[in-house]
Amino acid sequence: MTLSVAIIGSGPAGFYTADALLKYRDDIEVDIIERLPTPYGLIRGGVAPDHQTTKKVAKKFERTALTDRVAFYGNVEIGKDLTLAELRDMYDAVTLAVGAPADRKLSIPGADKKGVHGSAAFVGWYNGHPDFQELEPDLNVDAAVVIGNGNVALDIGRLLARSDIGRSKTDLPEYARAAMDESPVKDVYLFGRRGPADAKFTNVELREMLGLTESISMVDPSLLVDSAPDDMDDRAKRLADKNLDTMRAFAQRDPAKFEKRVHFEFYASPVEILGDDHVTGIRMERTQVVDGRAVGTGETFDVPCGLVVAAIGYRAEPIEGLPYDEKLGIIPNDRGRIDRGMYAVGWIKRGPSGVISSSRPDAAQVIDHISEDFGDLKGVGSKSGRTGLEKLLKDRGVRAVSFADWQSLEDAEHARATHPAPRQKFTDVDDMIDHLDRPTS
Ligand code: NAP
Repeated sequence: MTLSVAIIGSGPAGFYTADALLKYRDDIEVDIIERLPTPYGLIRGGVAPDHQTTKKVAKKFERTALTDRVAFYGNVEIGKDLTLAELRDMYDAVTLAVGAPADRKLSIPGADKKGVHGSAAFVGWYNGHPDFQELEPDLNVDAAVVIGNGNVALDIGRLLARSDIGRSKTDLPEYARAAMDESPVKDVYLFGRRGPADAKFTNVELREMLGLTESISMVDPSLLVDSAPDDMDDRAKRLADKNLDTMRAFAQRDPAKFEKRVHFEFYASPVEILGDDHVTGIRMERTQVVDGRAVGTGETFDVPCGLVVAAIGYRAEPIEGLPYDEKLGIIPNDRGRIDRGMYAVGWIKRGPSGVISSSRPDAAQVIDHISEDFGDLKGVGSKSGRTGLEKLLKDRGVRAVSFADWQSLEDAEHARATHPAPRQKFTDVDDMIDHLDRPTS
């Protein structure tokens, strides 16, 4: 009797779950369904293009995808090609691993002006995500502002401040690399609404700023307290203390030697985007931190800039037929359980936090739920599973992309890359399908 499990989404959370399922039992068949023709979710579309080492985890996921109990169906969209209800009818269990792809909105006057972007869109654009090809942000600016003090803000600031040589070793698509290389940007501001000890940067990422060859990171030394407050939990305090040390080290570099500056600014919250049609500046309000929260003081100042990116977090999107928690931006669940045979992992389960491996415990919880729901194997084996899915896709004329297809796309990406870039990505779904369906001579 084979237990059929469909996983929707092929990012880290989806693959960790597939891997855990394979290890849990021999009589499980796992089908991974992905909206894009390409697998790996945030590894490909979120992790920064200059963090190639982080992306290497994809090799582990590839091994999972290549086991014969796993099949990959790319270019198949739940809600368009088939409904969630249809999928649940075909599989014993369905796990949602679709992430939190939408931006938390910057809700201030002027936020709809040209030149203001959310980080999901901006990061998607520079990572070659097919959804964001048309963003074409104008980088012909002297100054850029990034709102937020998380790792995404840091990724964006670092890529804008990197040297051309540094960017040549990345898998930035050609259009994004050219736009960044040609950008005259000299000043990049990262604004945190709270203080340096409250920043959510991880220390390895913050220290990378000290290694950039063309830009210097700067911070007002009077804001760098000797150590983080004692009322923080131990782990957070250790991280904050390390970050404070790193920011103190910024001052050891000589600003005269660098063309570009990354300004780490604190205690300031955005209140208005300035300009007519296009952003020309941002009005910030000074804050103070009261009971851990940023509170406006009424004092404002303006920063001229031609680009604003709000890196203030993400949210999951509602899914038809399932409840949605507006406040948290997730699908409500109990330790990943939505109901019998329906689970959630990763950012749609717990919100957009943590690093790649943080989804691993979510996968372990799915195994607990499956064991509880199907441990006695009652009713298992009556669903059509993979056979049903393949028939339905065929009947509907859906051009599903197999894992072998993906490998052929990946081979082409490697083959057409210019050294030292690791790959030249396909960024358009039609181009990917054309490449796969082109007759071979
Ligand atoms: P994040 O770590 O939650 O940071 C969001 C930042 O936005 C915080 O500084 C937050 O300030 C600020 N913010 C939120 N709302 C705001 C508002 N209305 N006005 C001004 N500031 C606002 O989120 P993220 O940077 O999007 O990262 C998401 C997750 O991915 C994180 O866990 C991150 O570590 C992870 N990630 C990891 C890496 C890596 O390991 N290299 C790279 C990228 C992302 P408050 O703190 O005051 O709320």
